[in-house]
Amino acid sequence: MDNAFRIFRLRGIDVFIHVTFPLILIWVAVSYGVLQGRGVSGALFGVLVTLLLFGVVLLHEFGHGLAAQKFGVEVKRIVLLPLGGIAQLGRIPEKPAQEFWIAIAGPAVNFVLALVMLPFVPLVFPDLDASSLPNAFRLFGELDGRAIFLYLFVSNIFLAVFNLIPAFPLDGGRVLRALLAAVMEYGRATRIAVWVGQALAWGMGLWGFSTGNLFLILIALFVYMGAAAEGQSIALRAALDGLTVEQAYSRRAVTVAPDQTIGEAVQLVLGSFQSNFAVCAAGQVVGMLSYSKLVAALEAHGRVARIGDVMETEFPTVQPGANLFQVEEQLVTHNREAMPVTEEGRYLGLIARGDIAEAVRLLPILKRQA
Ligand SMILES: [Zn+2]
Repeated sequence: MDNAFRIFRLRGIDVFIHVTFPLILIWVAVSYGVLQGRGVSGALFGVLVTLLLFGVVLLHEFGHGLAAQKFGVEVKRIVLLPLGGIAQLGRIPEKPAQEFWIAIAGPAVNFVLALVMLPFVPLVFPDLDASSLPNAFRLFGELDGRAIFLYLFVSNIFLAVFNLIPAFPLDGGRVLRALLAAVMEYGRATRIAVWVGQALAWGMGLWGFSTGNLFLILIALFVYMGAAAEGQSIALRAALDGLTVEQAYSRRAVTVAPDQTIGEAVQLVLGSFQSNFAVCAAGQVVGMLSYSKLVAALEAHGRVARIGDVMETEFPTVQPGANLFQVEEQLVTHNREAMPVTEEGRYLGLIARGDIAEAVRLLPILKRQA
């Protein structure tokens, strides 16, 4: 996911905002101002409470982020999207207790905020009871301090409760897995948590269909796919566990030299299965020419450009003994197609995503037949 811009950094955590984020502001302005016919003040209410809501979402994500840091788990960044926030962690903590605390820290922030606001509710609404509640909600859309207070109070309760639904990718799914993993094997705990999440998604979806609630159907789809993705990532981890780069990398991957041209590299790509190249000089890897870089360089500078002038000079390398699961994670998180495999600086070959897919497919069959 990119197209996100950094807005600030706090406690060592970068906060990014996705380019599509303003869409939600436009949507709420139109929704309160035009669709509900509340005019400019309605539109301003919508924008204001949405910005405040995302402030609350940000605090929720910082709850996850700071808890993760406490356990030494790297927090790559927090991204704000139109539909919520994500705290991207360097690795999924495998210790169930750590995952439990990191997952529960987000909803806990909302719970504490609601608790702090609770004593002020009777002050803001002196005679609020069940019968006058609908009247209080009718304030939504009016540029009124009480309406904004109520909106934030309700939002915190909603965020705490909704996120604790025990279904991946919601926090509650992680909490459930962590609790199960305390008494059973991690893979089995994940399978059960995925199953519970998908069953709940079915329930939500059917409820949405029977009541004509489109929003509920969308949430159900999001939960269903999130659960499936979590199940797959764990299956992949299980498949890659114990495998090393040694077992999968391409030893015959051709290298190019800094003095060769982009045109020569293009010919290599067209005439072979290979599309990423390590750039080597005197047996040492000095750069990487990925397929996407090659296309960009060909377009910008033409075929006569020198590879040495357009190659990437900062790139990760891996050793043959590296764990394949970690390499896969590195490729995905750094959005890379391939990495050079080296030993004491000496070039051995390339490991690409396709190599890993082949290893996942072929090595278990070999193992079964051994
Ligand atoms: Zn959360």
